[in-house]
Amino acid sequence: MSKLEIQQIACLEDNYGYLVHDPASGATASIDTPEVGPILAALEKRGWKLTHILNTHHHYDHAGGNAELKEKTGCKIIGPRGEQEAIPGIDIAVGEGDIVELGTARARVIEVPGHTRGHIAYSFDEDHVAFVGDTLFALGCGRLFEGTPAQMWTSLNKLMALPDDTIVYCAHEYTQANARFALSVEPQNTALVARAREIDEKRAKGEWTVPTTIALEKATNPFLRAASHDLRATLGMANAKDVDVFAETRHRKDNF
Ligand code: ZN
Ligand code: FE
Repeated sequence: MSKLEIQQIACLEDNYGYLVHDPASGATASIDTPEVGPILAALEKRGWKLTHILNTHHHYDHAGGNAELKEKTGCKIIGPRGEQEAIPGIDIAVGEGDIVELGTARARVIEVPGHTRGHIAYSFDEDHVAFVGDTLFALGCGRLFEGTPAQMWTSLNKLMALPDDTIVYCAHEYTQANARFALSVEPQNTALVARAREIDEKRAKGEWTVPTTIALEKATNPFLRAASHDLRATLGMANAKDVDVFAETRHRKDNF
């Protein structure tokens, strides 16, 4: 059983960077590279040496710091096979089911296309910890820049299959705005109403609302709740297929 240490780092406007440290070996990975300065500062503060970068997708706010961090630390860069040509400095391209070893810890690669064509997530199954990039957010999901609703729905279902107590580290602090949309489509979800209130309180104090858990998202995130009667009633889609309910929910959020 590995015992990961995780350092969350505020980057750019609303990104989160993450350092994952395996104390047994000293191996340390940066999950994506949104901003070099804060990542280097966090490494220094914890006394960790960067050994790996694990990229989730090619967007600049996720891989933009790759080249500089690799040059400064000599770390190895691992990223999605489906978009390896767009990942600066990539050494190892990975896909569905591949295992990435970080010292004694092991991350399983899950392909989650939709936001981008080759987007991947990293699940440290033993630790019940997953890094999902811009696929799943607290009360939200990524915009469909390169993929279809059907692809994204399949991807989200893969994440929903993780154990309920899995801690989910998302790449952005979008939760408060997501909550307003979620309430508009599922106003009678009491767990959601309570969560939205908590989120407002946290944000008023400047606190982070990430990470989240699979259980909490399944209970409150409208993008995982295609089966919800309340959501279906709002959309006027009582008898539609789940994937179509998801697609309409995503479409409405884009225009919210
Ligand atoms: Zn992105
Ligand atoms: Fe992003």
